[in-house]
Amino acid sequence: MSTDMMNFQNVLDDIVATLRPELGRAGTVASYIPALARVDARQFGIALRTCDGEEAFAGDGEVPFSIQSVSKLFTLTLAMQRMGDALWERIGREPSGNPFNSLVQLENEQGKPRNPFINAGAIAVADRLVSQAAANGGSAKADILSLMSGLCGEPIAFDEEVAKSEADTGFRNVALANFMKSFGKIDNDVGTVLDTYFHQCSLRMSCRQLARAAAFLCRDGAHPIDGEPEITGERQTRRINALMLTCGTYDAAGDVAFSIGLPCKSGVGGGIVAVVPDKLTLCVWSPALDATGNSLLGMKALELFVTRTGLSVF
Ligand code: GLN
Repeated sequence: MSTDMMNFQNVLDDIVATLRPELGRAGTVASYIPALARVDARQFGIALRTCDGEEAFAGDGEVPFSIQSVSKLFTLTLAMQRMGDALWERIGREPSGNPFNSLVQLENEQGKPRNPFINAGAIAVADRLVSQAAANGGSAKADILSLMSGLCGEPIAFDEEVAKSEADTGFRNVALANFMKSFGKIDNDVGTVLDTYFHQCSLRMSCRQLARAAAFLCRDGAHPIDGEPEITGERQTRRINALMLTCGTYDAAGDVAFSIGLPCKSGVGGGIVAVVPDKLTLCVWSPALDATGNSLLGMKALELFVTRTGLSVF
């Protein structure tokens, strides 16, 4: 283990020790489906992977959780790989300033979602992936699993119980998909597109696996493990990081840029992936959320990390 690595391990251990007294004290675990509602709020994990491939984790950094909207980062990557700039004909790149599941802007914008990280945008990305997979005689769900398992170097799976609950209760997502379809902005069968979206939300991964899977974002798009194959080009990687900074935490994105200053992508399972370009990727997880649907202690942990290491994109 290099000296740098020992320092990072100390930083992570220190963050766990600092936050432990706060576990379960504030925030609320997502309760819209049973599998998330029963998660113990008193958990906190953190992990990082450097550009050189060194890894460290602390606390519950190896406990798998429902990655939920963190998946939007990976499906966007897959769509950019497959389609390049044509993707932006269907999806915008502006922060929404609204909750992740909001419908309000879609009507004025003729069914074109503001960005790929709100639910409408991720559903539109899923539609693109369904089309791409069909053209290659495959399935979008298999493509997603193959991307995630390849990035981690170990098998990653959907949680079918979560995927089914998402489908049983996802009335707003059904509305978003149908609304976009009414504007001609969804090409495929709405049921197939939503099945893909609900499954991507159900992926189960640990902080250690997510920090590794996202590591292409800190190394100009090179594969996290051996650099090959390239996941996205340098230019595409910069764009994904820019979108994470401006849109990755929904209506909290301005505050997160202000207080943390790193590209981040969060999910209602309590996970957040953050990138320090050219240095490392970081994943934090704690299930209790704030009012914007971002992990309360996860955000505190990221603030502590940037304060203690001085790492920031600014
Ligand atoms: N499954 C959730 C939904 O579709 C994901 C939202 C999130 O993680 N922000 O609403």
